[in-house]
Amino acid sequence: MESSYARTAQKNLARSKKRTDTGVDFPDQSLLVKDADIWNGKDFTRGSILIEESRIKRVARSIINDGYETIDASGLKALPGLIDVHVHLRDMALAYKEDFATGTAAAAAGGFTTVLDMPNTVPPTDSASRLIEKQKVAAQKTYINVGFHAAAVSDSHDIDALASEGAFSLKLYLPKPIAPFDIRNDQTIEKMMRAAARVETPVTVHAEDITGSENTSPQERFEEAAEARSPVLETRAVDRLLRIQKSARCSVHYCHLTLRSSLMRINASARSTSEVTPHHILLSKKLLHGLGWRAWMVPPLRSEETRWSLLKSTLTGLASVIASDHAPHTIKEKDQSAIKSPPGVPGLETTLPLMLTMVNRQQMSLSLLVKLLSENPARIFGLKSKARLRKGADGDVVLVDLKKKSRIDSSNFFSKAKFSPFDGFKTQGVVNSTIVGGRVVYGEGEIVAREGSGSVLRRGFSG
Ligand SMILES: [Zn+2]
Repeated sequence: MESSYARTAQKNLARSKKRTDTGVDFPDQSLLVKDADIWNGKDFTRGSILIEESRIKRVARSIINDGYETIDASGLKALPGLIDVHVHLRDMALAYKEDFATGTAAAAAGGFTTVLDMPNTVPPTDSASRLIEKQKVAAQKTYINVGFHAAAVSDSHDIDALASEGAFSLKLYLPKPIAPFDIRNDQTIEKMMRAAARVETPVTVHAEDITGSENTSPQERFEEAAEARSPVLETRAVDRLLRIQKSARCSVHYCHLTLRSSLMRINASARSTSEVTPHHILLSKKLLHGLGWRAWMVPPLRSEETRWSLLKSTLTGLASVIASDHAPHTIKEKDQSAIKSPPGVPGLETTLPLMLTMVNRQQMSLSLLVKLLSENPARIFGLKSKARLRKGADGDVVLVDLKKKSRIDSSNFFSKAKFSPFDGFKTQGVVNSTIVGGRVVYGEGEIVAREGSGSVLRRGFSG
């Protein structure tokens, strides 16, 4: 198989040399994925996938090789490309933490073919012109499909402009607004939600209501800092936002929830979807004592009992989405007291191996994995041509070796953030290859595509 990757790499290199100034890729790309176990929406069927001009042309038991670039995928599972709806790719003035090339290389290595980037950058994604600028920079660097969330803004004309440039959502960060926004005022939030609903753009929220909280004075130690951001802040924020959302009749996606009760409330409410992260379902705050900054994020890790009930709820289908909340920082920034250490951990390269390990332990079905990491993200964020392996769908495929064992080692990350609270975890199930629009981007440990070979997606324009 190795020679096949070498050929792909060579071909891509040749293409990049031939590349025209307009940046339009050559339409002759075709790829035959041969003899895989292909996910058909319910189960696996042995067969081959032919991808031409970035879309799946055929899925059949056997396809005659008509001189196509071929991957021998025998023994591998073919899943629809994974979609991470919550990542921080940084770049621009924060490129020292991560940039579009390293962040999307990390995504490809983790089996993700599409990611949606968060707007709390420098500068923030808070206007149509800044969104366009970010799209331009990303187009030069990305290896996969990347779309952008924008900051929640108060002016409805700005919301219209962001929607028409393809923002995937308006992000409301309740602890501290990304762009000037009166987060204490229910009417301001409702007005924003009504404007978002009018242009059929969802609102994404970080649901922690720390305004007026008596117990959030800065703490030096990570255990105490986690204690100070208690679960009640999430409960309060979810209750408040569900109420506002109902009267605004707006679709709201609740990011990185930590409580079973939040999932229950959101599940019972119209136009609401929920997200959990691998760290909140697999780790608890007792690890903060040993791991400190390596396990510091907001919302913080919860008690063992709370994370266990979140995991059980996720496994019974109560959550809509698993997202990594990939949030890279330098180790120098992180390795400080809890007052100074920026919250967030990288997650793009650990999410799928961790979930495949749960599949191997028979805690999670592959059907639930595909739902949480591909089908539901595509449905919620309007990526209509993704998350399926059938004729006409986008040629985004991840080939997985379900049996291969590995160990998480952050020193091998493509991300610039070479640390992880999961370092040393034994896993079973690895990404063999990641294919984006019929182009092999990652194979057997290497990035084999050209920087900038991926695409920028715009909500409403992406098929
Ligand atoms: Zn985040």
